Amino acid sequence: MNRNELDPRPCALCGLGRGKRWFRASDFDSGKEPFDLVQCDQCRAAWINPMPGEQELGRYYESAYYGMGTEKFHPVVESLTRWAGRHRATELLKLAPKSSTRTRVLDIGCGRGNLLRSLAELGCECHGVEREDFPVAGDDSTIDYHLGPLTESTFMANSFDLVIIWHVLEHLYDPAETLERVKHWLKPGGALVVAVPNIGSRQARWFGASWFHLDVPRHLWHFSSESLDSRWQALGFEKVKDSGVSLEQNPYGFIQSVANRLLPGSPNALYRAIKSKSWLRLLLWSPFVALLLPLALLESVASAGASHGATIMHAVRKPA
Ligand SMILES: [Zn+2]
Repeated sequence: MNRNELDPRPCALCGLGRGKRWFRASDFDSGKEPFDLVQCDQCRAAWINPMPGEQELGRYYESAYYGMGTEKFHPVVESLTRWAGRHRATELLKLAPKSSTRTRVLDIGCGRGNLLRSLAELGCECHGVEREDFPVAGDDSTIDYHLGPLTESTFMANSFDLVIIWHVLEHLYDPAETLERVKHWLKPGGALVVAVPNIGSRQARWFGASWFHLDVPRHLWHFSSESLDSRWQALGFEKVKDSGVSLEQNPYGFIQSVANRLLPGSPNALYRAIKSKSWLRLLLWSPFVALLLPLALLESVASAGASHGATIMHAVRKPA
């Protein structure tokens, strides 16, 4: 596509706009070939064009991306992540309709199952979908793992009270089709919770190709609040919650994006230090983090109100 040329196909999310060439960005891990992003001229959703094939994309998912076993980060960060997972489970469960039987939950892209484990502790029947090659950790009888493509999942229609797609929709080739499937699997009155990075955010605008949450090519799609809203309208879903606040994601995204801008030759260096589990590397980064943290918190709070937050969470309900 040339700079001013429009993608001939209508936007897969709003169905109205056309994609216009936007900017180029490279993978933060390998820093190899750049990917072109186009943006819908109506709903501001963006996507990689052309999209990499499945085989090519597979090379960008090392096992380190998920973490082996149950640990991905430094133990301190792991403890915080687990605590956040337990807190999130309690909050998400409040969105499920009241049920006389055990609440059936499906987590699409459940990763190491941290969230589902917390939901199982709260009494839910838990199902998780992951990629076929995903390194599932040990024996875990509390979660029913379904490994393989979503298109091969054989869940019953109208069978789940709560479906969660937590920072996963942006990784899928066809998010609109996935949302159609979810509608089929949800019970009438059931809730769907989606969390994604927000391409309409201040952070996305300020940092562009250095924005931590851009994460090309693993993030094939980039959503704005409007693009999600147009999907909910098309599916007949009612929005019950809309949040741009995430203390887990947004301040960190700010700090790492500043570092990416300052050290273009070493993208995601802080993220790698956290994953390295080395106290020394974390200690070396601590003055930088301490310096930026107040600004990062301020930005996260100031941007949350009007859908400018770096990530967005929508909860919607299937009509009863
Ligand atoms: Zn659109």
